[in-house]
Amino acid sequence: MSHEGIRALQLEKLQKQVRHVYDNVAYYRNLMDERGVKPEDIVTLEDIAKLPFLSKDDLREAYPYGMLATDIKNCVRIQSTSGTTGKRVVAFYTQEDIEIWEECCARAIVAAGGTNEDVCQVCYGYGLFTGGPGLNGGSHKVGCLTLPMSSGNTDRQIQFMMDLGATILCCTPSYAAYIGESLKERGYKPEDNKLKAGIFGAEPWTEEMRRDIERSLGIKAYDIYGLTETSGPGVSFECEEQTGMHINEDHFLAEIIDPDTGEVLPEGSKGELVFTSLDKEAFPLLRYRTRDICVLTREKCSCGRTFVKMSKPMGRSDDMMIIRGVNVFPSQIEAVLLNEGYAPNYLIEVDRVNNSDTLDVFVEMSEEYFSDTVKNITKREKALAAAIRAMLGISPSVHLVAPKTIERSEGKAVRVIDKRKRLGINI
Ligand code: ADP
Ligand code: ZN
Repeated sequence: MSHEGIRALQLEKLQKQVRHVYDNVAYYRNLMDERGVKPEDIVTLEDIAKLPFLSKDDLREAYPYGMLATDIKNCVRIQSTSGTTGKRVVAFYTQEDIEIWEECCARAIVAAGGTNEDVCQVCYGYGLFTGGPGLNGGSHKVGCLTLPMSSGNTDRQIQFMMDLGATILCCTPSYAAYIGESLKERGYKPEDNKLKAGIFGAEPWTEEMRRDIERSLGIKAYDIYGLTETSGPGVSFECEEQTGMHINEDHFLAEIIDPDTGEVLPEGSKGELVFTSLDKEAFPLLRYRTRDICVLTREKCSCGRTFVKMSKPMGRSDDMMIIRGVNVFPSQIEAVLLNEGYAPNYLIEVDRVNNSDTLDVFVEMSEEYFSDTVKNITKREKALAAAIRAMLGISPSVHLVAPKTIERSEGKAVRVIDKRKRLGINI
């Protein structure tokens, strides 16, 4: 579809959606009334800026049914957030909402080269988490033979992967790295498995981590993005160019705003991603602030898709740590570790001692490093600390720890422990 065609479709759907929400969601109608905006004020796509934002706090306030835009009798399912940053949010789906969501996931699988000849192993968690159900539905729609594994039980994952000849792997990037590590431990080489592609998302991961996973599994690794509030994974997905994720613009309207002022920023600016779901029936959020920071670009893509692309979110605005006044994202530290030849097994600990912030980075050594002399290990710690300082501008204490001492993740990895929270410091 041409860009103009997409915009025309978006405007038509937006007008209908704003009317639907205004008529059916008292919570949002009140917000619109407070601002003096009515559904008929949406005449062009730019008029979306007249609408109020929604945030996770609104969803918590309206919990559980306050944002529901249709009768319960029309709803067939709920899903819920992982609760990474607080109380869980519950989202509702009609059958049609599920069809569209699964269609979006199917597009991600096709963009990664999937067809009905593929064997698709889904090891995102099933249940309330959207990862498993979303990719499972997408895999069915493509006609892949679907292995609904859910997360965990890595021995069984590997057995099924090898015995059934899985060709596509869907899970979090941290779990993909763990599966890669486990295969190697069992004596498998990357060419021993039949995998060709992986569809990894639900948490931030770096280009360095992508290369590491691609090497260890012998695949091409594609990014997929989404959040429960907008349905789940599949809001955007990577194509073979692997330079950002195409947003399914026929279903979602994306904006980038200044997170402090709420002002809409021009294309190419870095800011907070805001989504409006254009055709959801049960849980249609307008101008939902994701707190994910990224950039949108409309440059022509070699794959031929015309949907706008979003860059990898570098982390949520609430993942950002301010350490000694410097903004730090865990992904920056991850990039340095992998560049320096370490595996993505690390933990970041931030604290405040004598009124000064401390940054400790615990990183696992390989078996080979571990058997080295204490002197050499200390030297390595210093070298890594210097590389991190060069990236961030602040000095960390680096602790190289024994292999297998940092807990592996089967779902979303926990990378940061911020002990300053116990001091009641607003970070
Ligand atoms: P929670 O907010 O509790 O983690 P979700 O499971 O709905 O709930 O997670 C959605 C969030 O996960 C997104 O807002 C984003 O921060 C993160 N996320 C999802 N996919 C990606 C991805 N491909 N890259 C980076 N972050 C992602
Ligand atoms: Zn593309």
